[in-house]
Amino acid sequence: MNFEEVKRQEQENLMPTYGRFPVALVYGKGAVAVDTEGKEYIDFTSGIGVNSLGYCDDGWVSAVAKQAGAIQHMSNLYYSPVQTSLAAELCRLTGFGRVFFCNSGAEANECAIKLARKYSADKYGKQRTEIVTLVNSFHGRTVTTLAATGQDVFHEHFWPFTEGFSYARANDFESLLSCVTENTCAVLIELIQGEGGVMPLEKEFVRKTAALCKEKDILLMIDEVQTGVGRTGSLYCYEQYGIEPDVITSAKGLGGGLPIGACLCASRLGEVLGAGMHGTTFGGNPVSCAGGLEVLQRVAKDSFLRSVEEKGRYLREKLSKMAGVQELRGLGMMIGIVLAKDNAKEVAGRCVKNGLLVLTAKTVLRLLPPLNITYEEIDQGLEILEKSILEG
Ligand SMILES: *Cc1c(COP(=O)(O)O)cnc(C)c1O
Repeated sequence: MNFEEVKRQEQENLMPTYGRFPVALVYGKGAVAVDTEGKEYIDFTSGIGVNSLGYCDDGWVSAVAKQAGAIQHMSNLYYSPVQTSLAAELCRLTGFGRVFFCNSGAEANECAIKLARKYSADKYGKQRTEIVTLVNSFHGRTVTTLAATGQDVFHEHFWPFTEGFSYARANDFESLLSCVTENTCAVLIELIQGEGGVMPLEKEFVRKTAALCKEKDILLMIDEVQTGVGRTGSLYCYEQYGIEPDVITSAKGLGGGLPIGACLCASRLGEVLGAGMHGTTFGGNPVSCAGGLEVLQRVAKDSFLRSVEEKGRYLREKLSKMAGVQELRGLGMMIGIVLAKDNAKEVAGRCVKNGLLVLTAKTVLRLLPPLNITYEEIDQGLEILEKSILEG
C-alpha cells in the first residue's frame, strides 16, 4: 500500500482519536525508520519512549521470536518461567519486594491506586481513600487515571470520574500540604512531567514530600512510566532524587516495543492485593516478558546507563548552541526544548518532511531517542532539527 491508501483506510475504519503525521512506517532498524515510499527517518521518539533499544534490535528480535515460537501465552492460571524471571530481575535490580504485571502505563497506575486504597482500608478503615497528584500531571486514559491526571482538558468528557483525587501544584510544598488530609492514602507523582512539557520536579520538593509521606504512612507512588528503564540515565529516575518510594509504576520502555506494564511495591506491601483482588488476562505475557528481560539485561548495566547520560549531555551541549533554542529541560535522554519562536508543532511537522521524527509535549519539542542511538545518528538528527527550526 502507498501512503494515500493507508491514510484512506485509516480515515474510513479507525476512530479518529489520533492526530497523526502524514507518514506510514513499515520498517525500522536501530534509530532509522522507513516509510511506505522508501523514505528514511532518523528517530528521536522511540515510539514515545517505548523502543528502548531502537527498531528491531538483533538481540531483542531473537529473544522475542524465540519466546513466540516456544509458548506465546498461557494465562495467569499457570506459572510462567519468563514472567517470574522478569519479576525477579526487576526486584533484584530495584530492591522492591513484589511486582504486578499488566499491559500499559495506565493499568500500572490503576494497580498502584488499588493497592494504596486497599492498604489504607486494611490498616485505617474505609474512609482513607484520597490520593494527591499534581497539577499538569499525566497518568493515563482510563476513567480513573484520567481522574488522577491533574489537567482540566482531560476532564471535559466522560463524567462521572472516579472520586478521591486532589491536585497540588508541582514544586509547591504548601500546596501539597493543603491537599493532604487525614483521609489521604497516597501521593502519586511523576518526577519529570513528560506529557506536561518535560517539567522536572525540584529535589527539595520531592524530599519534603517523601518525608511527609513517611511521617503519615501515606504511600509515595512514583509514576515512572516515561522516566523509567534507563531513560533518564539511571534505571529508574527516583534513584537520582535520593528517595525510597513505596510504589513505582513502569511501562513504555520496559518491553522494548511490546505492551507491558508493571507496578512494583515495597516488600511490606507485597501481600496487600491477594488472590482474586486484581488481575488481567494478558498481564505478564511471555513474549512481552522476554522482550523485557532482554531490555533489562542490556540497559541495567553501569556502562550502558553512563552512555545514556553521556549521550544526553552531548545532545544538550549541541542543542544549547543551536539557533532558535531558548531553554532545555529534562534528564538523560528525556529532553524538552523550548523554542524561541514557540512553534514546536510546526517545527515537528517540518522535521518529518526533512526526515526526522520528533515529539511535542504542550508547547515544547520533546526528544526521547532510542537509548542505544549512535553518535552518528544523533548528529544526523540534530542537523535536520537545526534546518527545520531555521526554515520557520
Ligand atoms: C504514557 C504515560 C502513561 C500512560 O501509559 P499508557 O501505556 O499509554 O497507558 C502514564 N503515565 C505517564 C507518566 C506516561 O508518560
